[in-house]
Amino acid sequence: MKKHNFSAGPCILPQSVLQKSADAVLNFNNSNLSLIEISHRSKDFVAVMDNARDLALEHLGLQNKGYQALFLQGGASLQFLMAAFNLLEKKAAYLNTGTWSNNAIKEAKLLGEVVEVATSKSDNFNFIPKNYNIPADADYFHCTSNNTIFGTQMQSFPETQIPMVCDMSSDIFSRQLDFSKFSLIYAGAQKNMGPAGTTLVVIKEDILGKVSRAIPSMLNYKVHIEKESMFNTPAVFPVYVSMLTLEWLKDLGGISAIEKVNNQKAELLYNEIDRNPLFEGFVPKKEDRSKMNATFNLKNDELKATFEDHIKQAGINGLNGHRSVGGYRASMYNALPLESVQVLVDVMQALEKGA
Ligand code: PMP
Repeated sequence: MKKHNFSAGPCILPQSVLQKSADAVLNFNNSNLSLIEISHRSKDFVAVMDNARDLALEHLGLQNKGYQALFLQGGASLQFLMAAFNLLEKKAAYLNTGTWSNNAIKEAKLLGEVVEVATSKSDNFNFIPKNYNIPADADYFHCTSNNTIFGTQMQSFPETQIPMVCDMSSDIFSRQLDFSKFSLIYAGAQKNMGPAGTTLVVIKEDILGKVSRAIPSMLNYKVHIEKESMFNTPAVFPVYVSMLTLEWLKDLGGISAIEKVNNQKAELLYNEIDRNPLFEGFVPKKEDRSKMNATFNLKNDELKATFEDHIKQAGINGLNGHRSVGGYRASMYNALPLESVQVLVDVMQALEKGA
């Protein structure tokens, strides 16, 4: 039986998507060839890439609005550098909400001045800073919508006249936002979209071409746009699985439909974390809690072995917190069913009852 998979990423994908992906590896589109042994320039694969790019923009409501979607390689980590390479002329503004923001800042500093507009570092990144000033003369503002490790999530985004760049790796396609507020969105596929190996980049074309440095081809968004995400051999399998997941989401009713389920899952688990005297949430302010990654601890370490035994018995996978934080982290990405969260809540209640 399939496990209840709370892994933080790579993470659970819809079972129907896994089945179709497996089929395509053996026999793609009844061609008697595998998806991964044909040319990426073949008509059938070009159609996959085009469809995946269109679906990404469609879900975000960004079709015909001057945006392009790309499926690149190098993970979200390469986007930390690539965003700065393409957009940072003199100075950029960054909000520091955790490890990944910090990594993004580190890369940007290689290329120009970075103004850290606010940070939650003093409280081990357990909240989202608010009411900060973004310098109007910065080239762009960068933020991380969901902090996978610490379990915080931005519920609102600042109003700013400068381009807003957002790392949405761990909450893209999970909730409705006005995505047109962002000039650049990037997300590693391995949470709500597909396997590791490709990164979605959604970019408003008019922000490009404004820096004076020479940009190497592989780091140049313009080159990838011009080549329709096929400048070099794309990650064919991750792009195909991403396309299937985006189709699955469309069949479900899109982001607004999945958001309702995501809200139910988060409410169910956080209610239990708050109610159950054996547990405490890592993020004190309710409005800052992530609906994708709920971080929590056992108050009494002596119960650890029993709790973890219960977790195992219940068929739960991937509940350990990030190695830098410890404790527990329940990642509730789009493909995780509500029933899996109920199983976790049942285990927490059984522990309380001493079962
Ligand atoms: N940003 C966020 C929010 C992440 O959660 C991660 C990885 N989990 C990254 C960036 C880094 O992504 P990658 O491993 O694809 O480089």
